[in-house]
Amino acid sequence: MGMTTSASVPAGSANATPGTVTDRLVKANERYAAAFTDPGMDARPVLHVAVVACMDARLDLHDALGLSLGDCHTIRNAGGVVTDDVIRSLTISQRALGTRSVVLIHHTNCGLESLTEEFRHDLEMEVGQRPAWAVEAFRDVDQDVRQSMQRVRTSPFLLHTDDVRGFVFDVKSGLLREVDPA
Ligand SMILES: [Zn+2]
Repeated sequence: MGMTTSASVPAGSANATPGTVTDRLVKANERYAAAFTDPGMDARPVLHVAVVACMDARLDLHDALGLSLGDCHTIRNAGGVVTDDVIRSLTISQRALGTRSVVLIHHTNCGLESLTEEFRHDLEMEVGQRPAWAVEAFRDVDQDVRQSMQRVRTSPFLLHTDDVRGFVFDVKSGLLREVDPA
């Protein structure tokens, strides 16, 4: 996770095409749409599950969990942290769109492990404004998964909090390890 982003594909990159990275994505979408057929689904996830995960680029949720189009809700942010906005999405997922299970996925080697709440302070010093959000940095990934499970289980807004499980995805092996909620 970096603070800066580059809009352009680096010159000399193996996959370099003219234009920005976004232009490349738009081109890829044209090919996708050409082969796309309407699956005829409504918005309710087939497996009635919502997955909350880190935004990490090494975590391909659909491949890693054997998911197909339409199977689940995917809610992602830096760390896979259960913030107020994740609770907002889960509440809509359960109350309006019929999901019942929640799967939380953090991972090894997360960018948030190398940050502290100092990040927020430094940001305030730089831009002259304190962000309203917490960085949600953590040192112990298991403890952070437990904290996230707890936030889901104790939310007054959710209808279903009996099937909430948390995991750590190993970015080297591709394996999930379940975290004991206790
Ligand atoms: Zn991460």
